Amino acid sequence: MTYENTEAFARRMDAEDPLASYREAFLFPKHHGEEIIYFTGNSLGLQPRKAAGKVREVLTDWEELAVEGHFNAKNPWWEYHEQLAPYLERIVGAKPGEVTVMNTLTVNLHLLMVSFYRPEGKRFKILCEEKAFPSDQYMLQSQLRFHGYDPAEALVEVRKRPGEHHWRTADILAAIEEHADSLALVLMGGVNYYNGQVLDMEAITRAGQAAGALVGWDLAHAAGNVRLDLHDWGADFAAWCSYKYMNSGPGNASGVFIHQRHLGQKDIRRFEGWWGTRKETRFLMQPEFDPMPTADAWQLSNPPILALAPYMASLELFDEVGMEALIAKRDLLTGYLEFILGEVDKEVDSRFEIITPADRGCQLSVFLHGEGRPLFDYLMDHGVLPDWREPNVIRLAPAPFYCSFMDMYRFGQILKAGIQAGSGAGSPAT
Ligand SMILES: *Cc1c(COP(=O)(O)O)cnc(C)c1O
Repeated sequence: MTYENTEAFARRMDAEDPLASYREAFLFPKHHGEEIIYFTGNSLGLQPRKAAGKVREVLTDWEELAVEGHFNAKNPWWEYHEQLAPYLERIVGAKPGEVTVMNTLTVNLHLLMVSFYRPEGKRFKILCEEKAFPSDQYMLQSQLRFHGYDPAEALVEVRKRPGEHHWRTADILAAIEEHADSLALVLMGGVNYYNGQVLDMEAITRAGQAAGALVGWDLAHAAGNVRLDLHDWGADFAAWCSYKYMNSGPGNASGVFIHQRHLGQKDIRRFEGWWGTRKETRFLMQPEFDPMPTADAWQLSNPPILALAPYMASLELFDEVGMEALIAKRDLLTGYLEFILGEVDKEVDSRFEIITPADRGCQLSVFLHGEGRPLFDYLMDHGVLPDWREPNVIRLAPAPFYCSFMDMYRFGQILKAGIQAGSGAGSPAT
């Protein structure tokens, strides 16, 4: 694709974009009456226009049916979560029964560790990437301490090479090899939240398992953003939040993948609750747990239906469009953003450095050498919503569902004006 930094080109790309109409399916915050340029779909996806209707439906069923809604609602609540699973299976590349929706991400990772972190004798270490998302670090450290290990010894963090901004697959595989005898679990972020890198999940999964460890993935930045084939890659488990690329709403329910090979086991180590026991006998209130034959066996409580309703609205859109079409647009759109950044860089000599490697989803993380927080504030004041990470990295994630090529063009114009206006002038390069 030969890109051009012109309004006419951006308009033409939008006119030819088969997903352009989906912008209308989402609600945009406004800045001086105009839709903002939203780069933070990797943090909180926009609200699907149909979300409110889905919530209204549940409220109406509650109003009109009360407790009877569990079985008689339009979408009966007792199996509401089961409707979300098939959509998610297609998004993450799972077989029927391998996905469930429950709780929130960090909670689920803890629950999954109960089942899949099985330290024994010499085999007790966990391997992850250095500077993993803080919640994951706290989760891993506290799990290790809970089992009586010292994280300083038991947590293996794969580092980037000095001066490099991304992990090399070879280095990750070498670390797995090095600790092969003592490794119990590999648990990494499939797409790194900071630099936007997509790890080679298949190669790492196979290497971890060949070393005798179980392998799980935190897919917070991957689900709904990149191609996933969890079943075929053979991952033991995975979990993701739904409020980032999946547009389900703030703090909403997490998704969980558990590979078929771990399903249908009565004696697996697991924390259990009544929603994981077989549907057919659940309401007989028997004392013995009889697990669902699917990932639903990990369910504890009856799920929050009002929360799942907007998630359903978003998943219906995903199913209409499909990951393939989203990814095709993602690559064009992110490529255009990369091009625009390069053009602005040439015009103002601002020395942006994109630290996101070629293996990426829709996020570009950009080092602003010589520019600082004032430039970020300028963008915010001009209807652009990016994300700021210390020391001076902005993360730009043009979600293909609702961002347009015109957004990228307009962003370039605002960015250039911001630098020329000297927003960064005189500010220390923090
Ligand atoms: C966003 C994110 C989380 C958030 O966890 P919650 O439990 O949903 O608050 C965790 N891990 C990673 C890698 C993330 O990107």
